[in-house]
Amino acid sequence: MGYNTGDKQLIKEINKASIFQVVHDIGPISRADIAKILKLTSATVSSNMAELIDEGIVKEIGTGVSSGGRKPVLVTISDSSVCFLGVDIHKDGAEAAVVSLTGRILAIAEQPFQHETGNFEHDVLACIRAVRGMVQGVEVKSIGIGMHGIVDTTKSISVFAPAMALRNFDLKTFIEREEHLPVYIDNDANAMALGESWFGQAKQVKNYVFLNVGRGIGSGIVLNGEVFRGSRYAAGEIGHIRVVDNGIQCVCGKYGCLDTVATEYTVIRDTISAIHTGIKSEAARLVSGNLGAINIDTILKAAASGDDCVLDILNKTGRYIGVALSYMINILNPEMIILGGSMSRLGEYMMDSLQEAAISLSMKECSDGVKIVLSTLRGNAGVVGAATLGMRNLFPRA
Ligand SMILES: [Zn+2]
Repeated sequence: MGYNTGDKQLIKEINKASIFQVVHDIGPISRADIAKILKLTSATVSSNMAELIDEGIVKEIGTGVSSGGRKPVLVTISDSSVCFLGVDIHKDGAEAAVVSLTGRILAIAEQPFQHETGNFEHDVLACIRAVRGMVQGVEVKSIGIGMHGIVDTTKSISVFAPAMALRNFDLKTFIEREEHLPVYIDNDANAMALGESWFGQAKQVKNYVFLNVGRGIGSGIVLNGEVFRGSRYAAGEIGHIRVVDNGIQCVCGKYGCLDTVATEYTVIRDTISAIHTGIKSEAARLVSGNLGAINIDTILKAAASGDDCVLDILNKTGRYIGVALSYMINILNPEMIILGGSMSRLGEYMMDSLQEAAISLSMKECSDGVKIVLSTLRGNAGVVGAATLGMRNLFPRA
């Protein structure tokens, strides 16, 4: 059987990406062990490894334990010579970070949107330039953007971003023209989900859901190792599952959605209204009675001090999320559910009620063995996930 030149090139790229993935996920490792795991010849591993080392992506570090004969040289991912920029765009602003191939954040910057100018793309650009200015002597390969709202990843456009009232906006072309780097764009929760498979809880996990709970609530669904986007790129809108009958109106126009009862805003709103009804809370003391100053840090401090008012609200929030997750579990039968986003800082106070609702309301056969965990990337899941959009373009995962 013969291969034409095109096939040979493709096979070489697959081998190189597979070698990279093994070093990334289980390194430091010897060339011989990589060859064993991937069932490749030592010559194939050596020639691809030479390229990865030349490109500054992999480096040799010391020697491992010998199994008789010479001690093998170990290779690992180089931490800082090749980096990727990740931008997380949420309702109120942008956050950008330079991230190494080991997931380390070399620099991070934030830029709130100046809504009065309406030029959100210039705020995003300012954020990118600020963070690039913080790192010297580092090669930034690409810019990945995790964008709030619905993103058409085939055309690379933001189809609908409700917070900025944008429709069919081409942010990619603008940033590429300004920064002269390749730009990759996806929905923020999808980017976060991918970040988990590179650096977080979902390494080697093929079927999982990432839940982004912050100013809004969305999810990234990964099935058989691929993001499931739906027919119009709108899959995973868990925030718009109805969890309250006769509830209040949501930004989507419907009533009683999860988004109206389980976000940063709703936890702050419910704390303030509980205090207004006369319930005592540590949150009020922390802001010296200026209830308008209560933010998510206040909530965290109050929860950590054992404040019953805040703990009750977080317990209820966890239960609402669990109700919506029970639908996901019945439909998708996932291996893992990862709770991330800014609200995951409060995860330990929501987890019990969330797990209880998710498991008790779903069918046993669907929920058996599902792991519900907190993202280890926590508040950085957005920028790290966005950076992996560029990484996976260079090294597609098998
Ligand atoms: Zn809704």
